[in-house]
Order: sequence, then structure tokens, then C-alpha cells
Amino acid sequence: MNSKHPFYQILFYSKLRRAASVLLSVLMLLNMQSCTRVANDTDVDNAHSLTFFAMDTAMSIKAYGEDRIFENDDPPLEAARDLAEALERKLSVTDEGSIIYRINHSNGAAASVDSETLALLGSALELCDKTEGNLDISIYPLVRAWGFTTDVYRVPGSDEIENLLKITDYRRIILSSEPAPEDPGTDDSTAKSHVLSGSVKIENGMMIDLGAVAKGYAAEKIAGLLHEKGIGSAVISLGGNIKTIGTKPDGSDWNIAIAAPARTGSDSYESPPYAGFLRVSDMSVVTSGGYERYFEEGGKTYCHIIDPSSGRPVDNGILSVTIVAKDSLICDGLSTALFVMGADRATAYWRDNPEFDFIIITDENEILVTEGIENIFTPDESYIESISGRIRAVHLQ
Ligand code: AMP
Ligand code: MG
Repeated sequence: MNSKHPFYQILFYSKLRRAASVLLSVLMLLNMQSCTRVANDTDVDNAHSLTFFAMDTAMSIKAYGEDRIFENDDPPLEAARDLAEALERKLSVTDEGSIIYRINHSNGAAASVDSETLALLGSALELCDKTEGNLDISIYPLVRAWGFTTDVYRVPGSDEIENLLKITDYRRIILSSEPAPEDPGTDDSTAKSHVLSGSVKIENGMMIDLGAVAKGYAAEKIAGLLHEKGIGSAVISLGGNIKTIGTKPDGSDWNIAIAAPARTGSDSYESPPYAGFLRVSDMSVVTSGGYERYFEEGGKTYCHIIDPSSGRPVDNGILSVTIVAKDSLICDGLSTALFVMGADRATAYWRDNPEFDFIIITDENEILVTEGIENIFTPDESYIESISGRIRAVHLQ
């Protein structure tokens, strides 16, 4: 935590989190939260649901199945919540007990880690590579310098940004399948419950942040858990990350609402809550939006997604990116990376790697929709009208 007064800030942060948790839970119950979510859900008798707060966001799981699946000593939705909370304790960049915190504070020495952390870091680094460093999990020193995660926002000077860019490079995160002999791990129960099976080494000052992929990973893990418990129809909603399992119980597709990106800064105005709706089954739908966390200073808006090539918040005209594909972890990494790329580079990237689809909303009121989802996306007419928007289909050729 970036502070001269860490205890005060932790206390403040946890109070803020608690307040946000209560507020978000209420909003979710009222079905008013402005993020990608399941729309027009048919509430059949055997729906079971649970709403909770973890990883800094409101989460909800809705699952269908026979009552006996849900009514036993180890109920699946509560187990899913425990899983999300355990992942938060393990992967949080600010929690002093987390494995990521320990890696980030090992002063240049290798830190021993469990197999799950090692595998997740491996997958995240692969995504950094695949997106040519637009996703960069070593971005944390810059995220922190701008005040994101601590909510003590500021605009760092150019020299400070230049210096932090020198320690931002995911290619200098070294993974090894050997635990570090000099690091026995921690006393933390989360880490202890896993066998140490490798190590991670970063230079002094470098810091890892899995914020861009952690919810996607959690969604995949929760889906695996529900599957093991015999659930074949469910929707997992972790903030802007949605993962659907199977179809709705009646065999029809889920209807996922895509949030209308709230306008920030001087041109802000009210718009309908949803930009449109996607009908999918067995798919993930993940949105990154600049409006999710930002601050304003000197008439300028700064969002929480940082361009690793400049060290500054992305300011390229993209308001939100929604990625549609099977795997939530990949969707999560791509949504952040394509947000950094901007509309033109994102389109070129998709043409080279068309194994996913996207919806990109720009500040020029264009909604770009790739051809794979053109027929399952229904724009919200009142939203399009309110922004005088245009839909543009993006084709491979
Ligand atoms: P998401 O909401 O999935 O787009 O993730 C955004 C979060 O990822 C931010 O709040 C930061 O913690 C972190 N982040 C910001 N910029 C980047 C980046 N270029 N690469 C990786 N992580 C980032
Ligand atoms: Mg992401």
C-alpha cells in the first residue's frame, strides 16, 4: 500500500469497501446496477441465487437444478462464494497476507509460490505476450502512482512516470518450477494449504497486479466448482464479468445486458442503463470500461486502465470494450488489452486473432460489433437514440 499511514488507509479502505458492499448489494437487489448483467431472467421455481461482495465488486450467482444439489452440508453457492473470497485473499495486491503482496515485497529475491499461483501467472504472462504488452501485469507501480487501488488520486510528474516505466516490463517476471530454497513460504493459511511448487522472481521495485485477469480466473474456477456439483445451468456475474453455464432451464439462451458506458468529465449526461443485449449460452461476456473507476483533475478525466507504453491512463476515445468467448480469463485479459489498443488497433488485432468477438463503444458514438455476434446482439433503441449512435459491423475482410 502506497502510504505513509498504511494502517489508517487500510482502515479507511475497508470501511469504504464495507459501505460499497452494502450499497451494491442493495442496488443489485433492486436490479439497478450499471454493469453488464443478466437481463429479463425468467424466475423459475428451482432458481437458487447468492449475492456477495468480493474482489472489490458485487458478485452474484444464479443456478438452476434439483433442490437436493443445493440443500446439503456443502451447498454449492456458498462454496463458490468461499472460493472467490479465498482467491481475493491470495491474489490481492493490497492485502499484506496475499501471495502477490509477498512476491511484490521480496526485494528482488525469488518467492516460493503454490502451483495455482504459478499456473495463473503463466497464463497471464501468455496473454501479455499475445497482446504485445498492451496487457502488462507488471503495471502496478504506475497504477499505484496514479492513486488507483488506494483511491488517493494524483497526476504524477513526467520524471516519475519515466522512472516507473523502467520497471514496467512483464518479460522480466521470471517463473520457475523450483521453489526458492531461501524462501520457505509464509505462515498465511491460504499459502500453507497448498504445496509450494515453484517460485517467482522480480527485480526490486517491480510489482505484479492481476487486477485485469483475476475476476475472469475466478469465474472459470467457480464454473468448474458448479460443474463438479452437478449444476448444468447457471450464470456467474462478477462485476462486469459474466460467465454462463449451459442454457436457461427451458433450453433458451441467456440474455446478457451490456452496460451503456457512463459519460465522464464535462460532456457527461444521463443515458439509458444498457447499450444492448446479447443472447448467449455457455459463453463468457466480459466488459472493461473507463467509467468503472476514474478521477477528474484540471478538467481532465483519468481512468484506471494504464497504457504501458506511456505510463498514463488510456485516452484513446474508447468508452468500453466487451469481449465474448468461451474462457473468462482470456476474455478478461483481452478486454483490458483491447481497451489500451484503441478501436483501430483492436480491430486489426481481432482480424489477426478472430477466436473471440467484441463490442467496442467509442466517444464518437459508434458501436463496433464483430461479425460472429452480429446476429445475437440487439442494441437498445433508446440508448442509440440518446447518443445519436451508429452500429458498425466489423468483418474479417
Ligand atoms: P479490467 O477492469 O479487467 O479492465 O482491469 C483493470 C485493472 O487492471 C486496473 O484497475 C488495474 O488494476 C489493472 N491494469 C490497468 N492497466 C493495465 C494494463 N495495461 N495491463 C494490465 N493490468 C492493468
Ligand atoms: Mg480485464
